[in-house]
Amino acid sequence: MSGESKDPVKTICPYCGVGCGIQVAPGEEPGDMQFRPWADAPVNEGRVCIKGGAATEVVDHEDRLTEPLLKEDGEFREATWEEAYELIVEEMERIREEHGPDAMGFFGSSKTMNEENYLLQKLARRYGTNNVDNCTRMCHASTVWALRTSLGAGAMTNSMADLEQAADVFWIQGANPGEQHPIANSQYFRQAVLEGATVIQVDPHANKTTRSFEIEDTDRHMHLQLNPGTDIPLLNVVLKTVLENGWVDEEFVAERTEGFEHLEATLEDFDKEAAAEECGVPLEDIELAARKYAKANNAAIFTGMGMSQHACGVDNVQNEINLALATGNLGRPGTGVNPLRGQNNVQGTCDVGAMPNVLPGYQLVDDDEARESVEEVWGFEIPDEPGLTNVEISHAAGDSVHGLYVMGENPVMSEPDGNRVEERLEELEFMVAQDIFMTETAKYADVVLPATSWAERGGTVTNTDRRVQRMRPVQKVHDNTKHDLDILSEVGTRLFGEGFDFEDPEAVFEELRQVCPSYHGMSYDVLGEEGVHWPCYEPGDEGDPFLYEESFDTENGLGKIEGVTHQPPKEVPDEEYPLVLTTARLEEHYNTGTMSRRSPTLNRQHPENFVDVHPADAERYGIEDGETVRLRSRRGEIEVRAEVTDDIKEGVVWTTPHFAAASANRLTNDVLDERAKIPEYKAAAAEIDVGIEPADRGAADD
Ligand code: SF4
Repeated sequence: MSGESKDPVKTICPYCGVGCGIQVAPGEEPGDMQFRPWADAPVNEGRVCIKGGAATEVVDHEDRLTEPLLKEDGEFREATWEEAYELIVEEMERIREEHGPDAMGFFGSSKTMNEENYLLQKLARRYGTNNVDNCTRMCHASTVWALRTSLGAGAMTNSMADLEQAADVFWIQGANPGEQHPIANSQYFRQAVLEGATVIQVDPHANKTTRSFEIEDTDRHMHLQLNPGTDIPLLNVVLKTVLENGWVDEEFVAERTEGFEHLEATLEDFDKEAAAEECGVPLEDIELAARKYAKANNAAIFTGMGMSQHACGVDNVQNEINLALATGNLGRPGTGVNPLRGQNNVQGTCDVGAMPNVLPGYQLVDDDEARESVEEVWGFEIPDEPGLTNVEISHAAGDSVHGLYVMGENPVMSEPDGNRVEERLEELEFMVAQDIFMTETAKYADVVLPATSWAERGGTVTNTDRRVQRMRPVQKVHDNTKHDLDILSEVGTRLFGEGFDFEDPEAVFEELRQVCPSYHGMSYDVLGEEGVHWPCYEPGDEGDPFLYEESFDTENGLGKIEGVTHQPPKEVPDEEYPLVLTTARLEEHYNTGTMSRRSPTLNRQHPENFVDVHPADAERYGIEDGETVRLRSRRGEIEVRAEVTDDIKEGVVWTTPHFAAASANRLTNDVLDERAKIPEYKAAAAEIDVGIEPADRGAADD
């Protein structure tokens, strides 16, 4: 499945969910690969951010894994592929025999392609378990849950191009596109703003999005800097203002929604003044923002992980849906509720069924009809009970879960309370990790398989606005590495005999589209260079730039409104831990840093972690700007440089998860949203110690 060409190859940036097209020219020697703009790329028309421009830097990095590794007496030794496969099959069979199929867990990856995640979830289900998940659990599981149950599909309701052309107001809550989706911000949002659109940003942290629209300096745009974990009361102030002023779209509510009375009842005795105080935002500012949103011709909500990563994440997003439905801002160009997805294939990884409760195309595993239609193609019985999510799998390691198969994921860094994750992984009887680098997680594996990188293999990825695009191999594979797809194919064939032997990624895609209704009309030829938005039910469908024009994709076609009430974070400040810790990502780094910390260009910008501390807190603690401090929570501690800034409110500290020894996830709380099982990364109680020697504060250490 490898390919080699001296001409530049058109492919997709391996970093964020915007899905920018790039060209890459292969070199004569490893390390000679060159980035080239792809001038007429459908999403970005040649523009890229710093990550896209530096994407080639890590492909030939000296740390690449090149041989299979087996652990013996606590040490890794090089092994042959045959030895590795034999051990994997032997151990997976033993675990199933001794403990049953639900004793295995499978982690897919949003950094890998649709075909690979499709095959991984098929492997899990053929093994006999629905214990398969991917890192969407950590970013937008709650968003997907709320959108799927209240509107129909767990994805952006509108597309970026449509929003740029039609939206008058962008309501951006808990998202920082200026930093995390730079091309969406600079190309689409910026253009709309130049043509008169208004930005209302709701976020506890002033960031590059705030600065990119000069929000603080204009009357037009607004930044509502709320306290972490007060999104529901803030939106309830907005909703009550909409109700009080008669800004409800009565016709839309009557014809296309259900549950409006529940919202009215929820807000009947709601005290706007008390709620605004709880949010830490002046009431008149929230009321003005409500007016701007409700009176716009077309207003679009963008929602990010500041909303989803809470124990009340589903309710947070439901309240955004309530606002959009109550004001009729859905089913038209320039409107909707739009999650900005993190990784370049996080949308696709969910679409193809790498989740414990759904099969490809979001068909529920406990829906008999849906399950049977997939079983007809696959030729085996699928377990009918939803499986465990990835955080639940990690928590159950050593108890009900005894084996783990990890493809391209790094839960030690990406899951909350990383110290606990490490303890649990130690308890596993057997673990496989396939990756391109020795990650913090792979160190706990019994077998490490060297996979190929994005630049060496082909397949498809699905971006944040549901555009399915092809990635193409740029250079030949490294030494003794193998494609994720080939590894899964071999393991599946050795375990089960049939159903896993595919000639190439296109053959896998052909099977995928048989079981995934929204991809059914696609083929590699149809995708071409432009890609296709889903839903694409039949060949010839061009996909929808916006959803729900006539009706919602729910059982009765109505959008579901449901009033929600404030639920404070599960851990709030107290005497011992008096600060609120919140977290987010940086423009130059990418999630667990496995790739970006190895990129000289990206790492130069931020070689180590830091914590934002408000000047009043700095004075109280006696912290100098740039001084090393110890930041701790009930779960762990990290040593980081303090940045004294009023980007954050007094009493709140803000840091990032990218740096191994000083990751925010040594501190974050692993309490989960009850329904979506997403952890509460965005609010925990913390304390700062000063007087720390700056010897080891978690620089890029691997
Ligand atoms: Fe890559 Fe995202 Fe930057 Fe585009 S915006 S170049 S997809 S990281």
